[in-house]
Amino acid sequence: MAYKIPSDCMACDSCRPQCPTGAIEVDNGQLWIDSALCNNCEGYHDKPICVESCPIDLPVISQPKKGRAKIIDDRPFTNPDLFANGKNNPFASAIIIWEACNLLSQRQSLTWQQSEGREVVYQRSINQGKGEISLKILDCSAAASLAKQQDSCLVESLDIRAACVHLIYAAYATTLEKPWEQDFLISDRQIEEYLGLDKRKDLSKPVKLNLIKKLAQQPCAIEATIYSPRQGRIDEFSIEKENLWHLLEVKHHFYEDELGCKHLAGLTFRIKAGMWAKHFLNKHACRDRKAFYQYSSLPQSLLEMVMSNWQQHEGAVRMMLWLLFKTRMGREQRLTVPTLMRIAYGEKRLHKANCDREERKRLLRTFENDLLVLNDYKLKPVFDTVTYPPEIQPLWVKLSAIPDDSDEAIDFWINDGSSNNRLTDASPRGKWNSLMNARIVQFELPDDWEQTFAQLEKKRQKLGISKLKNIASRKKLAIESAISGEHVASARKDKGWSQRELAKITGKSQSWIRDIENGRFHIKPEDQSLLQQVLALD
Ligand code: SF4
Ligand code: SF4
Repeated sequence: MAYKIPSDCMACDSCRPQCPTGAIEVDNGQLWIDSALCNNCEGYHDKPICVESCPIDLPVISQPKKGRAKIIDDRPFTNPDLFANGKNNPFASAIIIWEACNLLSQRQSLTWQQSEGREVVYQRSINQGKGEISLKILDCSAAASLAKQQDSCLVESLDIRAACVHLIYAAYATTLEKPWEQDFLISDRQIEEYLGLDKRKDLSKPVKLNLIKKLAQQPCAIEATIYSPRQGRIDEFSIEKENLWHLLEVKHHFYEDELGCKHLAGLTFRIKAGMWAKHFLNKHACRDRKAFYQYSSLPQSLLEMVMSNWQQHEGAVRMMLWLLFKTRMGREQRLTVPTLMRIAYGEKRLHKANCDREERKRLLRTFENDLLVLNDYKLKPVFDTVTYPPEIQPLWVKLSAIPDDSDEAIDFWINDGSSNNRLTDASPRGKWNSLMNARIVQFELPDDWEQTFAQLEKKRQKLGISKLKNIASRKKLAIESAISGEHVASARKDKGWSQRELAKITGKSQSWIRDIENGRFHIKPEDQSLLQQVLALD
């Protein structure tokens, strides 16, 4: 049971510096104890040190509360909720936001360097080495809650889930006209909902509030230095050591019990974007081509996915966060396996696997499981059939290729039994070396990752709504005249091909062919022409 401070406290402040867990805080001159942090001094002292050091024998043990609590202050109005469509929301996706997201998700796995001023920084060149971004973790209570003051400890104390809050801030920034001048207010309730923490019945309210506070503070502990060279009509600019997000205020909301003890009931954060937003998220200057306005679509499902997988599948979470920005550059992004492994596990671990057989086996198993996590989330990897052929693909890919239809499944197993590489065969020798040259052609995206919002916005600006209507009707016409899954299935059967054979010929996965034939999604125009060509469809 945690301790609490009744209203007869004299506020002499003798107890606060003694608390080994930092649970005692001050609000408006009145002391209160964060029950999520107070552990009764277990592991530090035989008796609660705050009671020992108090001249009037406070604090007292906190009993479970009964009846209705008295809310002390009203909460301020926050900015409107994100994800109004229940799926996604625009967010600032500039390179600086991407790199800060990498910093929060990849932490010690990144290559940290010592700057001239002997600071530990993460640096990244931009525009073919003409510009540079440099990020540093500031020694604020957020990042250094556990560790004390060493740069390496600051990096270790970062929590991967703070990347989600960073993305939420980037989404709020797009709701403002001039985010570098305007701030936004966000409450614990909003963050709780966006992260799916409202569904976590195993966490108590104080624990959730404590977690939210820590996650909300960490993106604000990133300091950025940017030098961007001239690009077209956009002048060169530099930003010297400025917080990426300014945490202007953390407001605590309390309820009061019958002894006048304050208990934390809620939090509100006032945040403002740094000056990066003036150059990368400036609508007005962008129209005159004097600044960028770079944004993309943030799916809420990604936030919930990170929150539920960060412990078990950290590699998968890192890849997801990285792909969120990468896929903004276009669907077809050929990625090598070493690139993905570096993002998921870091350069050091990849190097170790190259030298050590056991580590290689472990890393391979983890990588294939992490790809399965992405696949289950509908971020489906499409393997390059030349460099990443079925014999070195993960077993789950082969298993997912088994047709649902019983007749087709029998054909599948007959074909499998007579082929050189059977599904149940052990991995071929030299699989690791082959993987080091293997490529993933692209990731198929979940529905809520689609860029429709951003595309529609751009088109609306360029063409006007009336033209959009024409495009929509032309698209509708194209869909109506397009080939369907039934066409594909019957043309394939006419040719006597199995789904697997068609997948090989088209360079697609068998599950993709199966989904197309079952009508699970529309066939994209580029895939339509491929199927028309291969199956000789009119
Ligand atoms: S009991 Fe110990 S941990 Fe709890 S508030 Fe007092 S000093 Fe801090
Ligand atoms: S609880 Fe006791 S020691 Fe702490 S501020 Fe109040 S009177 Fe001082």
